[in-house]
Amino acid sequence: MFVKYEDLVEKASEMGLKAYFLDAKNIPIENRTALKCAYGCKGYGTRLSCPPYVMSIDEFRKVIAEYSSALLLVDEHDTAEVPDILEAWSELRKDSFHKMFELEQEAFREGFTFAHLLRPGSCNECEVCNLQKCVKPEMRRFAPEAVGVNLQKAMENSGLVLEFCKPEKTVCVGILLLE
Ligand code: SF4
Repeated sequence: MFVKYEDLVEKASEMGLKAYFLDAKNIPIENRTALKCAYGCKGYGTRLSCPPYVMSIDEFRKVIAEYSSALLLVDEHDTAEVPDILEAWSELRKDSFHKMFELEQEAFREGFTFAHLLRPGSCNECEVCNLQKCVKPEMRRFAPEAVGVNLQKAMENSGLVLEFCKPEKTVCVGILLLE
């Protein structure tokens, strides 16, 4: 790994994030991911960071082909004392997003001009998303799954096995595209 990547991994660690290097071509994009968004997710169409408001899976395939590398970012929250994880989920993912967003900005400052974060979960910077026009466009990011990324496979490709379903630990995952 080049020095610049190592610096980013170290910076991520200072922020409490674990970062795993990924070859961009090992980030699987699958059409079937769209089923999970459009049929079964109660958030479908309610946020500008989600389908149908984000670029299509085919468009994203073309975009990711222009990247060579990425960091898989993992933020583990200790939720042993949290009585209702579903209720806490919004704040947990917002907290993780802010750390990952700061890392994206740092990557840009380090010379990764096209650094771009695929955020954990849908954008919840506003309580209710303004579907007419994003009110914080500089922070609008979409999740990997929103553009067809099979996150589970991407993690396996980076040698990572995570247990998501433990109540004492809630994990937020993002991908930082780097170029
Ligand atoms: S910043 Fe606000 S308006 Fe923009 S996508 Fe996020 S929730 Fe919606």
